[in-house]
Amino acid sequence: MADTALTMDKIVSLAKRRGFVFQSSEIYGGLSGAWDYGPQGVELKNRIARFWWKEMTQLHDNIVGIDAAILMHPRVWHASGHVENFTDPLVDCKKCKARFRADQIPPENLAAKKCPECGGELTETRKFNLMFKTTLGPVEDESGIVYLRPETAQGIYVNFKNVQQSNRMKIPFGIAQVGKAFRNEIVTKNFIFRTCEFEQMEMQFFVKPGTDMEWFEYWREQRWNYYRKLGIDMDKLRWHQHGPDELAHYAKVAYDIEFEFPMGFKELEGVHNRSDYDLSRHQQFSGKDMQYIDQDNGNERYIPNIIETSAGLTRQLLMLLCDAYEEQKVADKGNEDDWRTVLHFHPEVAPITVAVLPLMKKDGLAELAQDIRAELKEDFVTDYDQSGAIGRRYRRQDEVGTPFCVTIDYQTKEDGTVTLRDRDSMLQERLPRARISEYVRQKIKDYKRAERNL
Ligand SMILES: [Zn+2]
Repeated sequence: MADTALTMDKIVSLAKRRGFVFQSSEIYGGLSGAWDYGPQGVELKNRIARFWWKEMTQLHDNIVGIDAAILMHPRVWHASGHVENFTDPLVDCKKCKARFRADQIPPENLAAKKCPECGGELTETRKFNLMFKTTLGPVEDESGIVYLRPETAQGIYVNFKNVQQSNRMKIPFGIAQVGKAFRNEIVTKNFIFRTCEFEQMEMQFFVKPGTDMEWFEYWREQRWNYYRKLGIDMDKLRWHQHGPDELAHYAKVAYDIEFEFPMGFKELEGVHNRSDYDLSRHQQFSGKDMQYIDQDNGNERYIPNIIETSAGLTRQLLMLLCDAYEEQKVADKGNEDDWRTVLHFHPEVAPITVAVLPLMKKDGLAELAQDIRAELKEDFVTDYDQSGAIGRRYRRQDEVGTPFCVTIDYQTKEDGTVTLRDRDSMLQERLPRARISEYVRQKIKDYKRAERNL
């Protein structure tokens, strides 16, 4: 009996082997906390972002998008509280120079100021700001200090009035954004789970004060259902409410959606009621009026409350790899002990949608297959593979999660039909080549997560 339990090592290995994720600058020994997305990884990442974007903007009449700059005016981060509060408590070892988060070493070591690695003396605990600092312009002095944004949310808040007025938005409405953020994490671990450079998918929803808890509950439900739509095993998801000591300085009430990764339940997404904190602070720090004028209600003025849904894109990618992964015993080739590794991605996010495989290279089958691939290219991301036994080629597609394989055989030459193989059921159907596109599109639309023996 093989050990089919999911481990992070298996995911890391598959991710590298099949072109999802590589270590950054690997030939130089790698850079801690940074990862590169390969051919399959970038397709998957782009598709997750598009899936989220469609869910949040296209399917909601009152949400629009923006793409704000990574560099912002330094005052933004004073207003947001990041300069003051966005810190980790750190201690250094005077002897071996190791650096630790004070809250992550044994309390007895902290009390005795004794390094857990070498027994050397530890420094006092000090606050370490997680924002990356750089300078703007040619002079490297204090006046030029800017930060790489540690979250995308502030780019939305400072554009609240621009978006509201240019698009004549009426409260309640939301602004969505997908983009990079940077945090100088001291402890980066668990592959791409916690990294210094990452991508967020955030939506900030502006509501009238007093209606905030109602909208908060609405967004909790919306965000929970999103994962169901994405085909995630809902048994691996749970809510975690922030207790008083976990609550961020801006939050009134906060819940996280957690996913059961191989290393345990970890945060995927936050749904937070941020009250009027953000816009009040920006009004105070910028001196600009951030109030909304409700023209439908006698020009009533107020600072909107904000419900935030903040998800990690790269974290969702890791979730999908973990959730989709299965080592499965199959006997589709007649061998009783055949195994396959398969990624059961939702076809909407799978890196390759259709693989076209000629049964043989010879007798004009390869040319015919290329011809069919050319037709499908306009509609789908396709792959073409003619090398090796057909069973091996199916396995290769299973391993990157390709939901559909089209096989061209001798019958195709005779009557123009192909076989279409479904990744999850491994069942094959024959259909005319002219119907492939329509058929695949319908299958994607009707996709439901199959019961799996994970
Ligand atoms: Zn030490």
